[in-house]
Amino acid sequence: MLGAGPGGYTAAFRAADLGKKVVLVERYATLGGVCLNVGCIPSKALLHAAKVIADAEDMAAHGVSFGPPKIDIDGIRGFKDGVVGKLTKGLSSLAKARKVTVVQGRAKFTSAHAVAVETKEGRKVVSFDHCIIAAGSQSARIPGFPYDDPRLLDSTSALALRDVPKRLLIIGGGIIGLEMATVYDALGSKVTVVEFMDRLIPGADPDIVRPLAKRIEKRYEKILLKTKVAKIEALKEGLRATYESADGSPGAPPPQVYDRVLLSVGRRPNGKNLAAEKAGVKVDERGWIAVDNQMRTNIPHIHAIGDIVGEPMLAHKATHEGKLAAEVIAGMHHHVWEARTIPSVAYTDPEVAWMGLSEAEAKAKGVEYEKALFPWAASGRAIGMGREEGLTKILFEKGTKRILGAAIVGLNAGELIAETVLALEMGADAEDIGLTIHPHPTLSETVFFSAEIAEGTITDMMPKARTAS
Ligand code: NAD
Repeated sequence: MLGAGPGGYTAAFRAADLGKKVVLVERYATLGGVCLNVGCIPSKALLHAAKVIADAEDMAAHGVSFGPPKIDIDGIRGFKDGVVGKLTKGLSSLAKARKVTVVQGRAKFTSAHAVAVETKEGRKVVSFDHCIIAAGSQSARIPGFPYDDPRLLDSTSALALRDVPKRLLIIGGGIIGLEMATVYDALGSKVTVVEFMDRLIPGADPDIVRPLAKRIEKRYEKILLKTKVAKIEALKEGLRATYESADGSPGAPPPQVYDRVLLSVGRRPNGKNLAAEKAGVKVDERGWIAVDNQMRTNIPHIHAIGDIVGEPMLAHKATHEGKLAAEVIAGMHHHVWEARTIPSVAYTDPEVAWMGLSEAEAKAKGVEYEKALFPWAASGRAIGMGREEGLTKILFEKGTKRILGAAIVGLNAGELIAETVLALEMGADAEDIGLTIHPHPTLSETVFFSAEIAEGTITDMMPKARTAS
């Protein structure tokens, strides 16, 4: 097992539970990979603090004022590190309990049946009958930026939370950029986000991103769309960013100096760091490893999972693939990839979540659909929280009214999307969802109301909101 991120440790543990002798090789001292150590988990710990700060501010409109927060940056960092520590310790004990051998160091293939690991104690050779590559990805870089300057951050150094910069520039208005913007804005930074495309989170439908864009436009210093950073100069007083329009047209804003710049323009697979050619495993020129629907590479006893095999680069995709690969290796050959969707969530404020077919994809593919869009302004629960900007959109197949996709923006959208994922996996239609009694008053009702809109049975608003493509 190469790599102990969510995909790697899941595969290792599942394989051990199925009776395999497992060696888990990990370059870092702790298990959990990027997600647990320097990604999903620490960011969520910081985002929780950000949410409480923003909620406390918002409470002024509800007649409760707390005054400005006192930020103890060491305390916040300490809490976050404690969260990571608890989870990595938990993983170590799970590995021990399963008798999984952990070898710390960088592994490179030496043949189709062995890797050499550079450990602190020297070179160790691990031979194998089967191997699962779960070596993940790394932050993408724009050439020519001053990477040796500690004021230029990537997601790892941004999460390290050394301090709270006065002015922070975030290059890339995708998931990492906007999650870190949420954190630093709440802690008091003046945030500018620069995005190459004409909208934020370009992977999600624009109508679902709009409520988020509207809220953060008011809070942040600037959001620059259709813009890129051509140059970053390290000056004594800060990092000077020179802008260019994405299409090269004149009119880009003048250069600005920032205390910190975060680069979050995507991630690249780590396929080229493994000497995979020594095992005969094909890696394309960008570092991806191709696999079949049982996660097998071109070398049948070597599997690959997670970020290294393709988008979306998400922990929950990697864990699903990790289990599948382990089960296939253990002889459960009937098992092939059959998940119908991988949900995506941006843990911003409000959260943005989507799954299945997006409206943009439906249009591009010529899929005939019915759209049901429920505005949270008609949800008693959302109004009670003063957060009625949310939207719940469900696409149903024309005729059968089977769910095709869903997108939600609003508080807890990341939790709410799970019901629609289950509905898609179960082949549910609008009637199934609309006749399922949902607890009142909850945000989960917004999924049910959307189904009622599609059914024409909604009573909490006029039934005309139903629209067909
Ligand atoms: P991303 O692909 O989500 O966003 C990158 C953004 O940068 C895009 O909007 C892109 O248009 C923009 N961009 C690219 N080049 C640019 C340039 N030169 N100037 C300005 N903008 C530019 O990537 P990310 O936010 O870096 O995240 C990386 C990966 O990690 C993603 O695959 C993401 O799914 C995953 N991730 C997921 C979560 C989550 O699930 N909540 C959180 C963090 C990261």
